[in-house]
Amino acid sequence: MKKFEYMEKHGYEQMVYFYDKTTGLKGITCIHNTTLGPALGGTRLWDYECEEDAALDCLRLARGMTYKNAAAGLNLGGGKTVLIGDAKKDKSEAYFRALGRYVQSLNGRYITAEDVNTTTKDMDYVHEETEHVVGLEGKSGNPSPMTALGVFYGIKASLEKAFGDHDFTKYSFAVQGAGQTGYYLIEYLLEAKAKKIYFTEINDDHIERMKKEHPDVEFVEPDDIYGLDVDVFSPCALGGFLNDDTIPQIKAKIVAGSANNILKDEDEHARMLKEKGIIHAPDFVINAGGVINVYHELGGYNKDRAKRDIAKIYDRLIEIYEIADKDDISTYAAAKVFAKKRIKIINNVHSTYIRD
Ligand code: NAD
Repeated sequence: MKKFEYMEKHGYEQMVYFYDKTTGLKGITCIHNTTLGPALGGTRLWDYECEEDAALDCLRLARGMTYKNAAAGLNLGGGKTVLIGDAKKDKSEAYFRALGRYVQSLNGRYITAEDVNTTTKDMDYVHEETEHVVGLEGKSGNPSPMTALGVFYGIKASLEKAFGDHDFTKYSFAVQGAGQTGYYLIEYLLEAKAKKIYFTEINDDHIERMKKEHPDVEFVEPDDIYGLDVDVFSPCALGGFLNDDTIPQIKAKIVAGSANNILKDEDEHARMLKEKGIIHAPDFVINAGGVINVYHELGGYNKDRAKRDIAKIYDRLIEIYEIADKDDISTYAAAKVFAKKRIKIINNVHSTYIRD
């Protein structure tokens, strides 16, 4: 991969490689765009096959964070860190404190947080060396219930768009994955007295938990979830599950869930959903509850304020659905238009000179 060509094509600002000789920490931080504010994105630890894979993952994830943060209405740009290593062997206090020093060296242009294979506890070590870290223990807490809350508001907006009301008692739901986010989403749906909820899982403990706590929520086998005759399909498991095989099976009028990168091919599969007349809530808009929650740590965390901000996912999706209709594009493409428009407008506002 020609990195400068890639950076030029997609408008990246900075890519930093770092290596700590004491702990063996090897990582890359990418800053995609800081028009709206410091770049925020978590630190992912992964045993990448090669450095090229790590670099590409970091670049893509950083760009995704620009759109996610912009569409979430946050004063944040997009960035990401990937660490090349083995989560079972490499993690230690020193390892994360070394990371903290590299984050600090970027002097606030980048703020990190937990991500795949890193935890709030690891971030506490990072915090020993830098203030530019969020998602700490005892602050905004577990992001998953807040992500699920955002998904709930996103489903509400999608019901409004599809049926002209959001009376949950009239509608049925199929939730794929009852892990961190799916579990809480099901609780919100139950609270709203949803007509019927189905779920699927591959983890026996999660299946048992649901059967024990909510016996009315009906289990179906993983392969059967797509073709259920329901109003809303809510993917809350892994990415890439909406593809050439699964989209033709979907009977639901709405697809709205927490899973990141749910479309195997962003353009092709967004188009397929549009052609089938399915209302699709773009992942990076509907699953932003967690990042909105953690953002509130920067100004002194207040849970009620964070929740009020998460509720705005409803209005954002309504606006995105309007853009999609007006421009006759997929909702995924409309979400990008929405995010880019905010970046452009705020950039223009900042063109007025004021003395620092
Ligand atoms: P999780 O691992 O806690 O839950 C996912 C669940 O899906 C697991 O219980 C797993 O057993 C199940 N699963 C996996 N494959 C399955 C299959 N084929 N059929 C049925 N179930 C299957 O993860 P999570 O934190 O709930 O995240 C879910 C998705 O939401 C991920 O894509 C994640 O990136 C995204 N997301 C999560 C958050 C958050 O705050 N946790 C925020 C933004 C986005």
